[in-house]
Amino acid sequence: MGSAVLSVESARDVVLQHCQRITGKQAVERVALLESFQRVIAETVALDCDQPPFARSMRDGFALRAEDVEATPVSLRCVGEVKAGEAAETTLRGGEAFHIMTGAPVPAGANAVVMVESTERDSDTRVRVLKPVKAGENIAPKGSERRAGDTVLRPGRRISTFEAAVLASAGKAEVLVYRRPVVAILATGDELVAVEAVPRAGQIRNSNSFSLYGQVLKSGGLPLILDTAKDNLPDLRRQIQRGLESDVLLVSGGVSMGKYDLVEPVFEELGVTVHFESVSMRPGKPTVFATWKDRWVFGLPGNPLSTFVAFELFVRPVLRALQGLPAPDLPVVKGQLQADVVERSGRSAFLPAHISSRSGTLEIVPVNWKGSADVFGAVESNGLLIVPAEAARLNRGETVAALLLEELGYASEVRL
Ligand code: AMP
Ligand code: MG
Repeated sequence: MGSAVLSVESARDVVLQHCQRITGKQAVERVALLESFQRVIAETVALDCDQPPFARSMRDGFALRAEDVEATPVSLRCVGEVKAGEAAETTLRGGEAFHIMTGAPVPAGANAVVMVESTERDSDTRVRVLKPVKAGENIAPKGSERRAGDTVLRPGRRISTFEAAVLASAGKAEVLVYRRPVVAILATGDELVAVEAVPRAGQIRNSNSFSLYGQVLKSGGLPLILDTAKDNLPDLRRQIQRGLESDVLLVSGGVSMGKYDLVEPVFEELGVTVHFESVSMRPGKPTVFATWKDRWVFGLPGNPLSTFVAFELFVRPVLRALQGLPAPDLPVVKGQLQADVVERSGRSAFLPAHISSRSGTLEIVPVNWKGSADVFGAVESNGLLIVPAEAARLNRGETVAALLLEELGYASEVRL
């Protein structure tokens, strides 16, 4: 494709269209239940027994016949005890009660449970019921939640707490999940040095590999950091080829208009198909989206915030799709802007912002940052304020949209 500049929406459409091609074809694997957290289910899970599997007492109290306690107080004969995990051996008859615990099966013949707080013990063998109960009260009938054979989870759901509880209840010691895509991270630039090094004149530490590592992990991918490539063709060729062994390759830097921005020429040489290379956004304009065979390739502009934003808009949907999740996932929230914002780029802007809740209303504070290299300002943010391309300014008090990318904050944390 030529050098057309795409709007953010069109660029995302291009990515999402490519994502559609893999729907239903994602690789799967079987993992132990405890290994499955944050993974995405790839199977339909059905129950092997009714839930609950027996009529279950929902209270500590006394199982009885509702018709025996229509007029209270009334004294019943206590004929036994049922603990959770046991079954009553005899059938309850008129005028009788069983002492019963929460989670225990309700004895045959009983149709209600009165909670212990509504009773008094007359003696070891008698209980006085102080309040009437209706038939069925405090009992979860067998199969009242779900029936044997019912579907309780479908493919495409990320496994979190309740999913884990459902899987456990369904007897799934192992669960079929989508494979985590392996994502190679390749930083490029003659100026980059390792974290351990003290930068000499003209050098900076490579930080993108680490922020990308975090973004990949958070998106469910398996990050793989490759050795940094220098800005020369042989080095880039070798490392890009290495990166193409992974499901996804993220190259950071080397995609702008500079004389030593050589990533795209190497893509071309290696037969990597570029779908777009420029998006009308700030930061992140020279973002490249490409594919090679069934591999996904991104050229992310080197400035740390550009890399970050481009990942959220374009890489994250691909990692979601590869894991069997619906791809169109922009976590947009609306809130009240807390400061005026002037944005003259004419492009869609995504500005680091702190999004917090004050008594349930969202407040959005643009953080003080010094441009797309400034991770120190951005560290105060938990999302990105969206300034539409056509808006030259946004006013304090306006309702605006933002991407919430971390946990929601609290208004008291905001440092203006
Ligand atoms: P580039 O996209 O290669 O032109 O890089 C744009 C800016 O981002 C330059 O100032 C680079 O030094 C900086 N940069 C590139 N890669 C990284 C990286 N891995 N970590 C931190 N800064 C980077
Ligand atoms: Mg560079």
